[in-house]
Amino acid sequence: MLTTTRLHDDIDELIPGLLADRRYLHENPELGCEEFVTSAFVIDRLRALGVEDIRTEINVTGVTGLIHGTGTNGGDRVVLVRADMDALPIHEQNDVEYRSQIDGRMHACGHDAHTAILLALARTLTDRRDQFAGTVKLLFQPSEERPPGGAKAMIEAGVLEDPHVDACFALHMAQNHPLGTIVAKEGPLLAASDRFSIEIMGKGGHAAHPHICVDSVVVGAHVIAGLQSIVSRNVDPIEPAVITVGSLQAGHASNVIPDSAQLLGTVRTLNPDTQTLIEKRIGEVANGICAAMGATATYVFSPGVPATVNDPRAVAIIREAATQVVGAENVISPNSQMGGEDFSFFIIERPGAMFMVGSNNPEKGLVWSHHHPRFDIDEESLGIGLETMALTVMTYLDRGL
Ligand SMILES: [Zn+2]
Ligand SMILES: [Zn+2]
Repeated sequence: MLTTTRLHDDIDELIPGLLADRRYLHENPELGCEEFVTSAFVIDRLRALGVEDIRTEINVTGVTGLIHGTGTNGGDRVVLVRADMDALPIHEQNDVEYRSQIDGRMHACGHDAHTAILLALARTLTDRRDQFAGTVKLLFQPSEERPPGGAKAMIEAGVLEDPHVDACFALHMAQNHPLGTIVAKEGPLLAASDRFSIEIMGKGGHAAHPHICVDSVVVGAHVIAGLQSIVSRNVDPIEPAVITVGSLQAGHASNVIPDSAQLLGTVRTLNPDTQTLIEKRIGEVANGICAAMGATATYVFSPGVPATVNDPRAVAIIREAATQVVGAENVISPNSQMGGEDFSFFIIERPGAMFMVGSNNPEKGLVWSHHHPRFDIDEESLGIGLETMALTVMTYLDRGL
C-alpha cells in the first residue's frame, strides 16, 4: 500500500520536469486532429519511460499506452486516464517567456497542462509498479474542442478494449476556482451541448411592397422570440437549460425583403429528458410560427456531446484522494456548469469521473477565463492535479469502486 507522504515527496521531485513539459506544449499549440508535434512528444516520453503496448495514430493523433503493476494487493483491474491535447484558434495576448510560438494558436483551455500531468503520472506510476496491481491505460486524446470531438472516434477505434477498461478518470484545469481547490462532484458536472439550424423560406421582393411578400426577417424575429418561451414555459423550472441563437443571417440591402433567413444556435442541458423535450419543441415552435406567417422552416438538430455525469463511487475515491492533497475544506462541489466536455463519451461506456483542479490566482493576475486570449493557469495547480490523480488511480486499483 502506498504512503501519501512518500508519494508527495516523489511528486515534488517531478515538478520541474512537469513544468518544463507544460511550457513546451504551451509554446507549441496545435488544433484538433493536427496534434502531430504534441503526439510525437508524448510518444517519445512514453517510450523513454518503458510504457508498454504504445499505440499511435488513433483518430489521427491519439495515443494509448499501458503500465502494468507488479504489486500483489488489489485485483486485476484496468483503469483508463485521459488527457486531451488540442489547442484553440486564439492569438495569445500573454507576455510570458513560454508564450505560444504560433500566431493564432493558443492553449487557452489548459490542455497543455492535462497532457503534461498525464506524462508525469506515467513517470510516477512506472517508478512504483511494485506498489499497485492491475493496469493503467494512459490515453492522449485529440480534438476535444472541435466538433464532433476526438473522444467518440477513439472509443469506436476500440480504446476501451484490449485490455477491457473497467473505469475511466480525467481532470480539467478550472480558472473559475481558486488554486488549492479540487472540484469533486457526483452526477452532472458539465452539460450536454447540441447545435441546431433553422432555415426559414419566405418570399422575397421590394421592401416597399411587403403585402405581396413573406418577410423571412420578420418571421425569423418571431421564431427567435418564440424559442425563448421554451425554457421559461415548457422546461421544468428546476431543470437547467439554455437555448441561445448565436447567428441570424438574412438579406444584404435595406430596400430588399430577402427570400430566406438562417438561424444557428446551441442547446445546453443536464437531463436527457429535457434535451429531448427541447429538441422537439424547437421544431414545433419554428414550424408553427412559420406556418402561421406563410413561410416554411427546415429544422436540423445536431447532437453534440452528452452531459458529463460522474459516477458517485468514482467521485468518492477522488474526494478521498483530494482530501489528502488539499484538505477536506478545499474539496468543493459547486453547481454544474453548462459548458460541455467529450470525456462524457468515456463515462457513458464505463463508470468513472472527471475532477476539476482550481488554477485561478488573483495575486499573480491569473484571473482570465478559459478560451480568453489572456488565459493562463497558476502552475502550482499542476502538482496538485498530479498528486490527486495518482492517489485516485492507485486507490481505485487497490479497492475498485
Ligand atoms: Zn475548452
Ligand atoms: Zn477543455
